[in-house]
Amino acid sequence: MRSDLGHALVEQFGRVPVASTLAEQLKKAREQLLKNEESVPTDSALLSEATQELEQSNRPLKTVINLTGTVLHTNLGRARLPESAINAIRNVAESPSNIEFDLSTGKRGDRDALLERLLKDLTGAEAATVVNNNAAAVMLTLNTFALGKTVPVSRGELVEIGGSFRIPEIMERSGCELVEVGATNRTRLADFKAAMTKSTAMLMKVHTSNYQVQGFTESTPEPELADLATQHDLPFMIDLGSGTLIDLAQYGIPREPTVQDALAQGATLVTFSGDKLLGGPQAGIIVGKASYINAIKQNPMKRAMRVDKMTLAGLTEVLKLYQTPETLCDTLPTIRDLARPEQAIKALGAQILQQLESLPTQGFKIELMPVKSQIGSGALPVERIPSWAIAVSSRDTPSSRAIMTLAAEFRQQPRPVIGRIYQDHLLFDLRTLHDPQPLVEAFAAVLSP
Ligand SMILES: *Cc1c(COP(=O)(O)O)cnc(C)c1O
Repeated sequence: MRSDLGHALVEQFGRVPVASTLAEQLKKAREQLLKNEESVPTDSALLSEATQELEQSNRPLKTVINLTGTVLHTNLGRARLPESAINAIRNVAESPSNIEFDLSTGKRGDRDALLERLLKDLTGAEAATVVNNNAAAVMLTLNTFALGKTVPVSRGELVEIGGSFRIPEIMERSGCELVEVGATNRTRLADFKAAMTKSTAMLMKVHTSNYQVQGFTESTPEPELADLATQHDLPFMIDLGSGTLIDLAQYGIPREPTVQDALAQGATLVTFSGDKLLGGPQAGIIVGKASYINAIKQNPMKRAMRVDKMTLAGLTEVLKLYQTPETLCDTLPTIRDLARPEQAIKALGAQILQQLESLPTQGFKIELMPVKSQIGSGALPVERIPSWAIAVSSRDTPSSRAIMTLAAEFRQQPRPVIGRIYQDHLLFDLRTLHDPQPLVEAFAAVLSP
């Protein structure tokens, strides 16, 4: 019986992991015995503990259903890619490609060439390059121009994005010295002027993407900083964070500054993410003045941050979609979800509610509720978009425990469904749901007696 279980384990997890896990269990058991503890584990206890351990460490990357109401959820992988990008990624993954090979001359080609062409056309910038993510784009830019030098930044823009990306620390690790100017709520041009010294290497503005300072505030307008930088013949970089190439207002979403805006305001370098509002794969894009982009490309650190062929293929296809902006609502999942009309979401909700009617309720109340979605990934942190959710609440009080347990059960499904808890309700925001079937199935599984 036990050796059957052993065989099954080897079949499921492979010989080496099973052997090493069992060895670890035995080692632990021996240590316990040496401490004179009387508990000698039984074989079956050892095996079942090993099974648990193996299941834990063998957990694959699962696809989940994001119904959190945050469209670009960093912890859930940000943007969903369009079909064309997925196909392009599959093609280059499967087969060799001309990524760095010029088919007309048979010589080595430029890996950024096609992407750069597209980015120049779309943004109007003189030149462009791409690295692994926007954090890398910021580091690479700072390291290229300000190594061993100083960079003044407003105290109102010393942001932290998602835990480990903090402007002061990024600057230190990029080899440059941060000079804080102004105050948290107000920074004027005069503050920057006073901070300019011989060692000032560049000017930098960070889009305060994930928070807003309200009340008595003032920040130095970009064109004034641009002028100051030009006077000193220095680059002026704007880190946009979630850069977008289109005016979101056309979809009824509050406007976020575009890359073109930043260039028009005089930025000579603009950095932004590929997988935030742009809706592509993880990447960091730098556009701007050709001489500056060339300097960045020649920084040896660029090689350590370059994107792979799959990113290149996916990003190229996403950018191609921007060449026909009027169809982005249909072609690009991020824009499709953000622009999705509230009434369409509500209609889907009514349809799902009907399908749930026949299920046992297990003491829960299930209803359709108006909610607010958010863009996520730091874009427009205080803006919310009206949406609809399937809301589950407990008929008993207090109900928060029951709701937490319920949320956990939805997460344990073969296709985990991730909602959010708000005021003792488990909310499944339907903005990002297109096929209702997996959600209905999860409800059926969770509510089955
Ligand atoms: C998100 C963000 C970054 C980091 O971008 P990643 O692509 O996640 O590395 C940097 N700066 C700002 C302002 C951001 O919003």
